Amino acid sequence: MVYEGKCMRRILVSFAAALLVYAIVISSPATVMAGSMRMVALDVGEGQAILFAKDGHGLLVDAGPPHRAAQLVRDIRSYGVEKLDLLILTHLHPDHAGGLFRVVEEWPGVRIIENGHRPPARRISDLTRWAGQVLEKHDRVDGVGAGEQAVWQGAELEFLWPEEITGPNLNRNSLVFTLSHAGKRVLIMGDVGSEVEKALMRQGALDWENGLHVLIAGHHGSKNTSCTDFLHQVSPEHSIICIDKNNIRGYPDSNTVNRLERYSDYVHRSWNGDVVISVGSGQ
Ligand SMILES: [Zn+2]
Repeated sequence: MVYEGKCMRRILVSFAAALLVYAIVISSPATVMAGSMRMVALDVGEGQAILFAKDGHGLLVDAGPPHRAAQLVRDIRSYGVEKLDLLILTHLHPDHAGGLFRVVEEWPGVRIIENGHRPPARRISDLTRWAGQVLEKHDRVDGVGAGEQAVWQGAELEFLWPEEITGPNLNRNSLVFTLSHAGKRVLIMGDVGSEVEKALMRQGALDWENGLHVLIAGHHGSKNTSCTDFLHQVSPEHSIICIDKNNIRGYPDSNTVNRLERYSDYVHRSWNGDVVISVGSGQ
C-alpha cells in the first residue's frame, strides 16, 4: 500500500490497522521466510513482553507479570522459537520481570542482559527482590548501560540509557535501547518518562538518518511519557502501547494516546491481542 503523505496515512489508520490484525490471524510460523525477523508485542495483560523471532531463535524483552508466565512460554513457542538466546530486562518491576522465573526454568542457558539496578530491599517489592536473586544466581548475566552494544542474529542492539544508575526509582533507570535489523529500527523505552526522553534528545542519541520503524512507548503510555518534542524527533511508523485494558492505573493516558496518534502512522495496543510486525529480512 502506497500513501502520499503522513496526513493521508493517518486517515487510513483504522482500516490499515484492521488489515494488520487480519494479517496476524492468518500468519503462522510455517509461512515465515528464512532470515526474516518478526517482532511480537505479546498480549500479557498488565505488563510488557516483546518477542523477536528469527529462524527458530528468540530474543525476549521483558517477561510480563508472573501469573501469565506459563502462557508466555507457550506463546513464545507458538511463534516458532525453539531456543530463547537472549532475555533483556528493562527493569525489575513485576509487570516486566514477573515471568523471569518461568523463562529461566524453560531455557536455563538463556543469556540475560539487565541494568544491574538493585535498590535497597525496603524500597522494592518482594517480587522485585526475588527477581534480583534469580539474576545473582544465573550463569549468564550482563549488566549494561548507555554506550554499550550487542549483536543477536544479525541485529544490532544499542543501549542508550541509563548513563549511570541513580537513586531507587526503577522506572527512571530502565534500560532504553534500539534494535536494528535489515534497515529497520525498533526503539524500546522501558518505563522511563519524558525527563529521560529529553535527556536522550540533548545527547543526540535519537538523531537517526533513516527514521524509526517501531516505538514501544514508554511506561505503558502513562501521562508524562512520549512528549511532543520526543515524538516529533523520532516520528515512528508504528507505536505500540503495552498494557491491559481498563487497568487500575488508568493507562494509557488519553493525551499521550492523542500525541502518539498525531506523530505515528499506526498506534497499536497489546490488549487487542499480540501485535506482529516484520523487522525485515536479512542473514
Ligand atoms: Zn511497567
